[in-house]
Amino acid sequence: MQFATRVNKVMDSGLGALFAGAKENTISFAGGYPDPATFPQAAIDRAMRDELTARGDASLQYGGSSGAPDLRKWLAAQMTADGMPAAPDDILITQGAQQGIDLAARLFLEPGDGVVVEGPTYVGGLSAFDAYQPTYYEVPMTGDGMDLRALQKVLMQHSVKLIYTVPDFQNPTGVVMSEAKRRALVALANQYDVAIIEDSPYRWLRYSGAPIPPIKHFDTEGRVLFLGSFSKILAPGLRLGWLHAAPALMAALTALKGASDVESPHLNMNAVARYLTTNDFDQHLAQICDLYRKKTTAMADGLARSLPACVHFDRPTGGFFLWLTFPEGFDAEAFMADHSLPDAHVAFVPSRILYASHQVKNAARLNFTSSTLAEIEAGTQALGAALTEALDA
Ligand code: PMP
Repeated sequence: MQFATRVNKVMDSGLGALFAGAKENTISFAGGYPDPATFPQAAIDRAMRDELTARGDASLQYGGSSGAPDLRKWLAAQMTADGMPAAPDDILITQGAQQGIDLAARLFLEPGDGVVVEGPTYVGGLSAFDAYQPTYYEVPMTGDGMDLRALQKVLMQHSVKLIYTVPDFQNPTGVVMSEAKRRALVALANQYDVAIIEDSPYRWLRYSGAPIPPIKHFDTEGRVLFLGSFSKILAPGLRLGWLHAAPALMAALTALKGASDVESPHLNMNAVARYLTTNDFDQHLAQICDLYRKKTTAMADGLARSLPACVHFDRPTGGFFLWLTFPEGFDAEAFMADHSLPDAHVAFVPSRILYASHQVKNAARLNFTSSTLAEIEAGTQALGAALTEALDA
């Protein structure tokens, strides 16, 4: 039996090996898990039971590829309030934002087609695109999002079908794309006839500063596919996300979704819709943000105290991640494999696998949501000590 060639790259993402290599006594800032304390377990339990009691027959039945009407209705209102006017028919429920990336890729890409990705980018986005064997064009990130001059150069010189961006508290850098860049990005996409995937699972997890309209807000030609997710704001185990796209794309996306998995879990969709309409979701979000704000501050303060001066980071204003930049020539992967400390080995995601080009080695992604405050304090201290030793040697 011979596998299709598309499998090789997907298998080679490097993330599996990274987790497999975790040592004992590890404080891990490597994963991207939410804190389980944020899961509203009792309320979801109630919503599940009420759903089964009130309309179990329907919720345990097939329901249709677009997703449960009640959930799409709630999301349409939420999208509209967030600057992306939507009717329920503009929303497709997906199994997490991950499926949204896959569907968008499947809609547009033939092997060899051009895809612009940020450098660095979400590693799972690369895995999803890899299956469609695209040609990547990597556009560097700056402090306020993608470098649009570099993007324009790519668009002038190459044929590109898709631009993939994580504009809000980017995984992995934590960077937020400025409003001016969001406008300009849409203008470039219009000029060069390109679609944009706006992947924004962290959008409502802001810990400081004022919200910025989504890229989709500036979309006048139906080029922006907005992807949302309940994974970080409710629970990833529910496997629920959504896609907000123009009517012209919806029939094809819904057909692709149906061909792939028929529909998202009907009981989960209806129970979550019931949860959302019978609980104060804004208050739930505010509680998550309070917890993660404390964790971000603890990590940033801990690092500021212990890192050598040649290691740089910006304080995240939301999301899950903090990005460290080491001096030129430093290999974060080799450092993580080598450094050993008496009490704690600290894991993180070295930068190489987060670039489509696999070229940048002197940076790292740290997650601050899944560790306890005590682990953050101990881990930042241990990491600072090990880096000081490695870099001052
Ligand atoms: N996009 C980004 C940027 C992510 O960080 C993640 C989760 N790590 C996903 C998509 C996929 O999340 P899910 O499928 O659970 O919604």
